[in-house]
This record gives sequence, structure tokens and C-alpha cells, in this order.
Amino acid sequence: MIVGAGSAGLVCAWKLSEDPGHEVVLVDAGIDPGPDVPLELATEILLPAHYYWQYTDEDTGNFLPRGKVFGGSSAVNAAAATRGHPWCFDAWDSPVWTYDACLPAFRALEADQQFGQQDHHGSDGPIAITRYEQSAFDLAFQDAYRRQGFHPLADHNAPGALGYGPFPTNRIDGVRMSTLVSVLPHLRGRSNVVLRPDSEVLRVLISGGTAHGVVLADADGQHILEADRVILSAGTFGTPEILFHSGIGAADDLRSAGLPVLADAPQLGRNLSDHVLFQMNMEVTDPSELPMPGGQGTLLTYELPGDRHPQAQIFAYHAPFFDPTAGPHTAAVTASLVTPESRGHLALGPGRARVHLQHLTAPLDRSRAADIVRTAAHIVDDLAAQGRLKLPDTPWWRAEDLPHACRAQALSYHHPVGTCRMGRDDAAVVDEHLQVRGVERLMVADASVMPAIPRGHTNLSAMMIGYRAADFAAG
Ligand SMILES: Cc1cc2nc3c(=O)[nH]c(=O)nc-3n(C[C@H](O)[C@H](O)[C@H](O)COP(=O)(O)OP(=O)(O)OC[C@H]3O[C@@H](n4cnc5c(N)ncnc54)[C@H](O)[C@@H]3O)c2cc1C
Repeated sequence: MIVGAGSAGLVCAWKLSEDPGHEVVLVDAGIDPGPDVPLELATEILLPAHYYWQYTDEDTGNFLPRGKVFGGSSAVNAAAATRGHPWCFDAWDSPVWTYDACLPAFRALEADQQFGQQDHHGSDGPIAITRYEQSAFDLAFQDAYRRQGFHPLADHNAPGALGYGPFPTNRIDGVRMSTLVSVLPHLRGRSNVVLRPDSEVLRVLISGGTAHGVVLADADGQHILEADRVILSAGTFGTPEILFHSGIGAADDLRSAGLPVLADAPQLGRNLSDHVLFQMNMEVTDPSELPMPGGQGTLLTYELPGDRHPQAQIFAYHAPFFDPTAGPHTAAVTASLVTPESRGHLALGPGRARVHLQHLTAPLDRSRAADIVRTAAHIVDDLAAQGRLKLPDTPWWRAEDLPHACRAQALSYHHPVGTCRMGRDDAAVVDEHLQVRGVERLMVADASVMPAIPRGHTNLSAMMIGYRAADFAAG
């Protein structure tokens, strides 16, 4: 049984059920919209509330969208498709998860329309990847990046690539190649797969230290569903919630919630990591000269001074793409620290998890954030000096105490990971093969297992984890 039909869960179900000897039940609290995916779900980024879980950051009040539908967050996301660099995965500190060990799964998942034949790419996978065409707006930013000393590149997913170049995306002709659109159709005809939408899993059934099913709630009430292996793919917020309500977590927290202690996992819900971003809005002076693309056209990535490859992203796009209140000629320049040191946590208790992202709580993150925003400001000033952009009267990024201003402006990039940390040490929640420590036949396969956040967008990595989990479960 796989709980959660999102990025990782759907891929895991697809891969496992290739073997007709495996019977797979795929459960999700969200709907299965059927083979004819509604247009809004295929194309839009701002969707009706029923497609999302209702989490907010407890410290800022910001809404934290997570997809509640078959396809999970891959069905509601912005379809940026970068992987991260070899050192992101090598830093997971496990011979099972080096970049070289993960690469076959990345390759098997993608059909890269420009670089599919290269060693580090794939051409036959279910997820089509292309690169945005470069508009006059993108080319203007590319010129500004060049004048700031950055270098062009063709493929952001080449190992170690840094510089500016077309944004890789799994949006093809306007359609987001989510697991809902690209992977689920492969499962529909399989007689060894049962899809169970509209079913929220409340807890895992564990007896004698072994998982043997779940308790779920649907429109008819609560039910027990038996299974000889349970794989949790409910995401960075959903999976720790289910584990906690199953009696797995910090023993003291479980006792104070009135739950039995079946496995002491003090780090469950800890180690929450997320890319943090800053948005700088301005007007395009002449929209007929610089018409803006809908999505993100060009991505700049570069390294900051420091150990372990600290890294920044900057990109510019048409602000209404994400923000319906933005004016029609508003451009957004986004600056992001994609190697945060700060860690948040989930407060796990009787009800839904309470999320504390804790962006920029580490002083080093504040100074790095200010540094990245200054670089973005130079790029914006360059284009403003050419008369191509008009800045607001008092741009927030000119604040005297920029690290402090960054703290106030920090937004989630919606890439939370890490709450069920994988590792070789006893404190890790899951082992290298994603098996929950202390409980047999219970695995986690989703973004929650990442010990450290990759520098790339997290969707491809979550799918890679789902793909590899199928091998571990079958092996
Ligand atoms: C708005 C937004 C924009 C993003 N943009 C990008 C982007 O451009 N590029 C990128 O790479 N990444 C992006 N991401 C992040 C990326 O989509 C996620 O990292 C990835 O989808 C996580 O995959 P997952 O399998 O861990 O979880 P999910 O895909 O979220 O899947 C979890 C599934 O579990 C289900 N579930 C949860 N709890 C339960 C329960 N108790 N019972 C039953 N089912 C349950 C959910 O309904 C969901 O279907 C974005 C995310 C969001 C929300």
C-alpha cells in the first residue's frame, strides 16, 4: 500500500506495479479527476482551495500550499524542473544516495527534449522536460546578467552547471507534466493496481513491531485496510503527521498527546528545510518593447563565498503569473537562497501538524540573503538605468538594515523537505533504504526523507526518491 499519490507516491506505484506479481493499492485524501484532467489543473498555478491542504507557517501566517489531489504537489506546482548538483546528493552522506547512485533514476524519469541523448539525461521517461523560449524580456535580463560578470549556459541540469540560461521546465505547450498527467495514465489499465481517492489515512496499524495496514477515513466513515507493506508518500507535512498518530515520534511528545510509544523517533518533524525567496516588484517601462512571458524564462544560478557550495538563484517573470493582485505590466525579480542553514520543525500534536519554517533564523542565512538581494538589485538598477524598468518609489531592497528587511520579506519557495530524515545514524527517522527505524515493513518515500535540501527545485528529486523506493521495496 502506498499512502499519497503525489510526486513520489505515483512514481513508486508506477514502478512497483510494472511487475504483475505486485498488488499495489494507492491511497490519497484528494480526488482522482479521471483521465480527462480538468484544464485548470493541467495549466493553472493559482487553483481553487479544495486542491490544497490548509497549512500555514505558524510564525508568519503565510499560506503553505501542498497539493491535495492525485498528482499531489506536482499537480499544483510551477513546473520548474532542475535537479540540483552532484554535491547536493553526495552531501546526503550515504553510499546508497550519491549523485551517481541517483542518476539512473533521474534519467529513467525524464524525456529531455533538448539534451535527452547526453550521458546525464534521459529521453524515454514519462516526464517531458523542455526549456522556455527566450523572450525579449528574458534577453534583456540575460544582457544584464552578462554585464554583472555571469556566464551563459545551455543546460541547468548538466552536473555542476552555474550561470544563466533557459529555465528547464516540465510544462509543455502550457500543460504541466505532473505525475497526474504523465504517470497516472500508465497505471489506469493495470489490473494489479487499485486507486483509492478521497481516503485520508489517519494512522498505520502496527502489531509486534510490524506494519500491516492503515486506518483511513472516507465519506462512509473509518475503515481498516490491511497490507503486507506500507509506504508513506504523504509529503513533508503529511508523512510525519501519520507516523506520529501511529505511535512513532519523540517519546515524550507521544505520551503528552496520549499516544502509545511504538518507536522512539526523536527527530521526527525536525530538520525541516526550505528554499527561501525574496520578491522585488517593478514596472516594465514599455510593455510593447519588453512583453513578458507567462512563466519563468531565464534562470541565473551562482555560488556564494563559503564552504559546501552555498548557492543563489535569481530569475525574472511576469508578476501576475503567481500574484493575481499584481498589475498587468509588473515584473517580479525573485532572489533565492537555495542552501539555507536555518532549520524549522513541525509541532506534532493531537490535530494537524503546526509548521514552523523558521526561515533566516541562522545569522549566516540573513547575511547571505542580503548579499543575493544586493546582486539582484544591481541587475535591476542596470535595466532601470537603461530606461527599461521603473522601480517603486521606496524599494524595500534599499533598506539600511538589509538582513533585517530580508527577514521581514522572506517567503517560502514551497520546497519543504527533511522531516523524516534519512541517515545511517541511529537518530535518523528512516535508514538508507527508507525503512522506518524500529518498525518492520514500513517505509517512507517522499521529500520528507531528504537529509539536506538540494539546490534544485524539489519535484524531480521527490520523483527520483519514489522511483528508487520501488526498487528497495521490491528487493
Ligand atoms: C505551489 C507550489 C509550487 C511549487 N513549484 C515547484 C516547481 O516549480 N518545481 C519543483 O521542482 N518543485 C516545486 N514545488 C515543490 C514540489 O512540487 C514538491 O517538492 C514535490 O511535489 C513533493 O513531492 P512529495 O511526493 O513529497 O509530496 P506531494 O507531491 O505533496 O504528495 C503528497 C500526497 O499525499 C497526499 N496525502 C497527504 N496526507 C495524506 C493522508 N493523511 N492520507 C492520504 N493522502 C495524503 C496528498 O494529498 C498528496 O497527494 C512546488 C510546490 C508547491 C506547493
